[in-house]
Amino acid sequence: MTVLAYIGLGSNLENPAAQLARAVAELAGLPGTTLQAQSPFYASRPVGPQDQPDFVNGAVELATTLTAHQLLDHLQSIEQAHGRERKQHWGPRTLDLDLLMYGNETIHDERLTVPHAELPGRDFVLQPLLDLNPGLTLPDGQRIQSLRRQCPDNQLRRLPAQPASH
Ligand code: AMP
Repeated sequence: MTVLAYIGLGSNLENPAAQLARAVAELAGLPGTTLQAQSPFYASRPVGPQDQPDFVNGAVELATTLTAHQLLDHLQSIEQAHGRERKQHWGPRTLDLDLLMYGNETIHDERLTVPHAELPGRDFVLQPLLDLNPGLTLPDGQRIQSLRRQCPDNQLRRLPAQPASH
């Protein structure tokens, strides 16, 4: 079965936009997976500790035959390959990959909460999702568009299109 999955990407260390561009290429290369669409990238103020660089965020839409848990395994290996160390909650990071949505499924177990728990209150997640799919709706029927309107403003700035990476 092929499912549409939405992945959120974020970075605020070591050339964040390049980290994201590389991660998009890696996601496109996952087994059983096709990259359907890629959002623009946005710069935003960090959530939590403010003594760190701004974040760059984006999202992609994947068509995949991987299960949600297989996808999470791949996201975590890609994060590790980008040299991510978990030091501080909400602290700086070279790459953060989140499984935002997996088809119309709701998942709650020890490894996964889908839709992602922090999705509703974050403009830097909601805006790229809207760019990918303006009609997107959560499994409980909430429209991403409505959530975006209610969301606190985190000074999101759309970045110029990235040159294709080679
Ligand atoms: P972080 O990288 O700090 O966002 O958190 C990673 C942890 O969140 C891992 O232990 C994952 O198992 C867990 N997690 C729960 N739900 C998700 C999700 N939807 N996407 C990515 N990680 C998730």
